[in-house]
Amino acid sequence: MSAETRREKAQHIRHLLDTEGENVRANAGHFNESRYDAIDEFDEYEELRTEVRAIKEDAIERLPELVEQVRESVEANGGTVYLAEDATDANRYIEEVADDAETLVKSKSMTTEEIDVNDALEKSGVDVYETDLGEFVLQVADETPSHIVGPSIHKSREGIAELFNDQFDPDEPLESAEELTEFARDYLGERIRDADVGMTGANFVVADSGTITLVTNEGNARKSAVTPDTHVAVAGVEKLIPTLSDLQPFVELIARSATGQPITQYVTMLSPPVETPTVDFESPDTPISESDGDREFHLVLLDNGRTAMRDDDQLRETLYCIRCGACANSCANFQHVGGHAFGGETYSGGIATGWEAGVHGQQSAEEFNDLCTGCSRCVNNCPVKIDIPWINEVVRDRINHDESTEFDFLVEGLTPDEEPGGMNMQKRLFGNYATLAEWGSATAPLSNWVARSRPARALMERFLGVDRRRVLPKFESETLRKWFDSRGGSRVSPADADREAVLYPDAYTNHVQVERGKAAVRVLEALGVTVEIPAVAASGRAPLSQGMLSTAERHAHDVYADLAEHIDADRDIVVIEPSDLAMFAGEYEKFLPERSAERLDSSSYEIMEYVYGLLENGADSNELRAGDGERVAYHSHCQQRTLGLEAHTVAVLEDRGYDVLTSEVECCGMAGSFGYKREYYELSMDVGSELEAQFRTDEARNRTVVASGTSCLEQLDSLLERPSRHPVQLLDARV
Ligand code: SF4
Repeated sequence: MSAETRREKAQHIRHLLDTEGENVRANAGHFNESRYDAIDEFDEYEELRTEVRAIKEDAIERLPELVEQVRESVEANGGTVYLAEDATDANRYIEEVADDAETLVKSKSMTTEEIDVNDALEKSGVDVYETDLGEFVLQVADETPSHIVGPSIHKSREGIAELFNDQFDPDEPLESAEELTEFARDYLGERIRDADVGMTGANFVVADSGTITLVTNEGNARKSAVTPDTHVAVAGVEKLIPTLSDLQPFVELIARSATGQPITQYVTMLSPPVETPTVDFESPDTPISESDGDREFHLVLLDNGRTAMRDDDQLRETLYCIRCGACANSCANFQHVGGHAFGGETYSGGIATGWEAGVHGQQSAEEFNDLCTGCSRCVNNCPVKIDIPWINEVVRDRINHDESTEFDFLVEGLTPDEEPGGMNMQKRLFGNYATLAEWGSATAPLSNWVARSRPARALMERFLGVDRRRVLPKFESETLRKWFDSRGGSRVSPADADREAVLYPDAYTNHVQVERGKAAVRVLEALGVTVEIPAVAASGRAPLSQGMLSTAERHAHDVYADLAEHIDADRDIVVIEPSDLAMFAGEYEKFLPERSAERLDSSSYEIMEYVYGLLENGADSNELRAGDGERVAYHSHCQQRTLGLEAHTVAVLEDRGYDVLTSEVECCGMAGSFGYKREYYELSMDVGSELEAQFRTDEARNRTVVASGTSCLEQLDSLLERPSRHPVQLLDARV
């Protein structure tokens, strides 16, 4: 990416932060909070997640069979099924169906957005009216959706009122939400009544009965399906589920995951063509029994790349998506900038990368794929348990392989990774952080001085896209491992130890945050643990985050090779950096043989989790520094939360007498290299501003700031005047 492209990207994001950010934040944040509440109160959540996942896996596996089954069911009901190969094919068929139509009313459907059916129909002379309120607003405003569930979440009530008053010039200016809704209902009600064709999407299509399920909060989808005498439903083939009894768990989960409602206002199940006669609005006195009962129904099942996605082991999981939007709502970057940046031609949010790459091609995904920082917060929030960050990394890797620049010769073979020369240099730099850190420490303090000099910062910004406003990490010349060796290794001999542990020397602790590593050694020793810090490869988190999958995989194998003898010897692997632990517990499953990944995962502990376990098993907490009521503001790490490990830190600190205030903000905004990148610096700071605000409140202002992740510590240092530390440093009696 050129410096100019980065500048334009940064400008676009800044513009959206200024114009749409506040509304997106309020609305996506509201959906997210409501979802948490709804799920807290719903005991069967995990059980149903497992159930829907299994149904989806089965349905996608049997997709060709289900397509044939639904064809038979719909035809037996009197309707028609058309399997459209792509958007052009689907639109051609729909245009034929709507050949004599003057007007068509449509309910909200991302699949129809995907094929641009409105444009196609309007070109063939059909007036199309969106009847979902959010879509109607966008049609009037001539804008595109910014969210897959709430398409106009970027607009304010005031903005919509101004738009309607300008466009429709009502007798009395519209102002309140009620007035706007009532106006739209009346306006659209007339269009539905007069329409020749009604078009809907389908949240689910039941193969064995031909039942279309529409899950909505407005009644217009149902009205659009049953009022005109021709109904066209457009759905991706992945919407097929085998039987009616499979529907219930999806209905239980979709509204909770999308908006936090136990169920939407309308759940419509139709096995069209419906048998009720159409109402003749021109002669309201005619009894309905005398009306024409001749109805048409067309189910357009869209492939548009889905068969190829099904055949693609890495993208296949995307087809399990039920489009609830939870991955967008729970994503900090999305909450701040919305789908007009974090989205492609049609889809937005975390899973959009998979959809865009599958249905529109990699280029559409490339535009926004980097906005997923791999924090993994969405994974626990996805009702179908899709590994959304992994899909993002895979597509990023594929994009890297498609890139080539005139500067390739500068980096080819320069760094020890398996990636192609064509990969952009910014990614190569951040992806090889471990090598950089080794060089940085080996040549410190010169490396720090050079890297922080103004000319170097200007060059780094121009050619590598490292934003000059960020303070670069300072490499220590005495690494943690050097320090450990120079003190003669562990001060607790194995003969006197209760346990033996390997402290994993991650690149940040070993080269930059050395003090937290020293504190961890002393804390473990104080609790009777003998410690080793062997040379172990970097986890691969850095290359993974840049989509350098081959390099990350090599790291995984190297780490396992380095640690296997310690696992064999029954030593515990203690990890300070949560993102590295998350690699061991998550992505290594994809890189290592199952048995190796399991062994490493079950032997590894986050440092504060490990201390908690030692104390629970009888270690003497008095050996650790006492808090004596010291007031602490604590921010845990995204991946630590995903692993469910933040509670251990709070418990240990409170046990030692600290008064702990935990941040309610889920993300610091830094996310590894993300916040260093020129194009994302402002977004990163915007996300971080929420944490800053919380740590500047009266309750938090004078507290000691602690955070578990390197990125969080760096971001907090840039947001606050107070220095921040890792929680293990508070337990170190030497401090
Ligand atoms: S990936 Fe999961 S969370 Fe995201 S929209 Fe699809 S089903 Fe919802």
